[in-house]
Amino acid sequence: MTEMLLKYFREQQKQAETERIYNTQCPYCSMQCKMQLVEQTHVKRKTYKTIGRDNPTSQGRLCIKGMNAHQHPLHKDRIQYPLLKVNGEFVKISWREALDYIKEHVTEIQEKNGADALGVYGSASITNEEAYLLGKFARVALKTKYIDYNGRLCMSAAASAASKTFGMDRGFTNSLQEIPFTECIMLAGTNIAECQPTIMPYFEKAKENGAFIIAIDPRETGTTKIADLHLKLKPGSDAALANGILKVIIEENYLDERFLQERVNGFEEVMQYVASLEFSVIEEKTGVPLEKMYQAARMFGQRETGMIFTARGVEQQTDGSAAVRNFLNILLSVGKIGKPRCGYGAITGQGNGQGAREHGQKADQLPGYRSIENHEHRMYIADVWNIEEKDLPRKGVSAYEMIEKIHDGEIKGLFLVCSNPTVSNPNANFVKKAFEKLEFLVVADLFESETAKLANLILPASSYLEDEGTMTNVEGRVTLREASFPRRGEIKHDWEILCEIAKVLGKEEYFSFSSAEEIFNELRIASKGGIADYSGITYERLRAEKGILWPCRSLTDKGTERLFETRFAHSDGKAMMVPVSNQAIVPKAKITKKYPLYLTTGRVVSHYLTGVQTRKSASLSARNFESFMEIHPSTAKKYEISNQELVQIESSYGRIVVRSKFSEGIRPDTVFVPFHWADSQNVNNLVSEKLDPACKMPGFKVSAVNISPSVKRSSY
Ligand code: SF4
Repeated sequence: MTEMLLKYFREQQKQAETERIYNTQCPYCSMQCKMQLVEQTHVKRKTYKTIGRDNPTSQGRLCIKGMNAHQHPLHKDRIQYPLLKVNGEFVKISWREALDYIKEHVTEIQEKNGADALGVYGSASITNEEAYLLGKFARVALKTKYIDYNGRLCMSAAASAASKTFGMDRGFTNSLQEIPFTECIMLAGTNIAECQPTIMPYFEKAKENGAFIIAIDPRETGTTKIADLHLKLKPGSDAALANGILKVIIEENYLDERFLQERVNGFEEVMQYVASLEFSVIEEKTGVPLEKMYQAARMFGQRETGMIFTARGVEQQTDGSAAVRNFLNILLSVGKIGKPRCGYGAITGQGNGQGAREHGQKADQLPGYRSIENHEHRMYIADVWNIEEKDLPRKGVSAYEMIEKIHDGEIKGLFLVCSNPTVSNPNANFVKKAFEKLEFLVVADLFESETAKLANLILPASSYLEDEGTMTNVEGRVTLREASFPRRGEIKHDWEILCEIAKVLGKEEYFSFSSAEEIFNELRIASKGGIADYSGITYERLRAEKGILWPCRSLTDKGTERLFETRFAHSDGKAMMVPVSNQAIVPKAKITKKYPLYLTTGRVVSHYLTGVQTRKSASLSARNFESFMEIHPSTAKKYEISNQELVQIESSYGRIVVRSKFSEGIRPDTVFVPFHWADSQNVNNLVSEKLDPACKMPGFKVSAVNISPSVKRSSY
């Protein structure tokens, strides 16, 4: 830092007359780093900065996003009043008018078309209390079966794979504290260096302690740099690569036979299937040389302890659930789970990607990870909610399928909370058309996102600085996010908004909450006895213990650091292995003459999701103010593309224009584009609508595209 800058900061420091500290948690990724907003009042103005706070997960660290997280909630563009669209323009109205508007339209649509003509689209960025309440709101206040959320596009494959294999889906089977002491780590389809930067020291420490790290990714990233072995596979071939590794493990007998016999079902079938596969076919399909598969299998098989982590690279495919299951097959075959320093982690993307998938926002789910189609589960929740079981709607459809129903005219109105689906969904051009068809769209958000712009009514929601509640982080650790920053204008918390709408709809008796803690106390009862049992967790305990790993079944239960030590969560206590084909049932994009390159997508460190919040941050925007296409220089040469040039990328679904960025680290048959930008830079305009049949995850990670310079070059 220069002398001049230091002098400036010292002066600022001197001038501060008062200082206030607000405790909270970062609103972005699943690390949920604890932080403090420091507000200093100077003679003429206030200044703000964000600093890290010690806690068991992030240990006081913050990444660049966290350090600048105060910039968006304090931004001048925050929505502060209900806004109604009149003649194409948003005008400020009162809450009374907004609630009357909602009542009128809900009543009219449902009287004409039935309860299911309304849908609810939730978010994995909201608190557990709000996710729980949103599920209840859909089923009790609106009586619709149509509710799903943006986590469907993020965590559904890992969740489905863990539920089917282990009988339970908690993202990490161990706490993060075990990572530095494990001896072999497989990082499959995850770029933690950019997506969850404060988790990196756990892996760096493991490396210092001698761990062998295997990274699986079509491109070199900050994460692959720490790896001892990088398997640079073709996009979409993860399931086949796992088969290759498994085949070596079986062939060279690194199996934990006792573990397989006592604790696992289905290994024989997997063994037979894998034996029928040819290495040469796997090598061709994955593009990974056989000797590298051998090296990975030997290191993982021979070391005493090991862990596997998956993320969206494996999961966001039309066989994402099966591909994750195949990595779990590897883990189970060598018996590296349920023991110290052995386990699995699905590295959640969104802030509350874990908690938001547990308590009823999903189309087929009731709180506590209960099933909406299970009679006993329905009876239990109906009792907690004080309704008749017969009045509880049945299961609905997944997020993208809900949008198809909007397009078909079956769903006519939608409540949308803290999400930007017209940018984040695949086949984004179609999604936007569907949203334009809605008769009634109400959006609760911080900003006029691309989707909010299409709304009839926008409601001003509170941010992570203002909205207290619990979040469940990447480990499955429930934490209390304190938040007491004063709200501007007429901003309300999401839970308050839901309670007020329920009240005007005549459902006040079910939604008479006056704090997030009261909602949490109902959630505790609703989750009791379920897979995700929070019943022993209280706000008081969370304050004192700095977070508790679920399940936590009583007030004296300390929570569960390591899962599956003696039994898995299936009724017979055993894990379930299944053979996984090299070929997805729903075919992935194929390379053709017309579309000769793979396109894969992901994140950059300075942005979060569709960038609605991070694009408002001057510091973060300055780092990446536009999208780009990473391309190997040899490929660029073939297509006559220069570095930093505008390039048109086209698939059979649409076209976008972004700037080229040369990288020697990407496969020559693949280009990479991040997904944080909208409109003509929205990479989801290029992505197919095909879904994984097991979990309805779209295949974001593999498209087939063509590229060309965007404009004919001319000299001036
Ligand atoms: Fe922590 Fe994630 Fe926020 Fe970075 S983005 S500060 S890693 S929670």
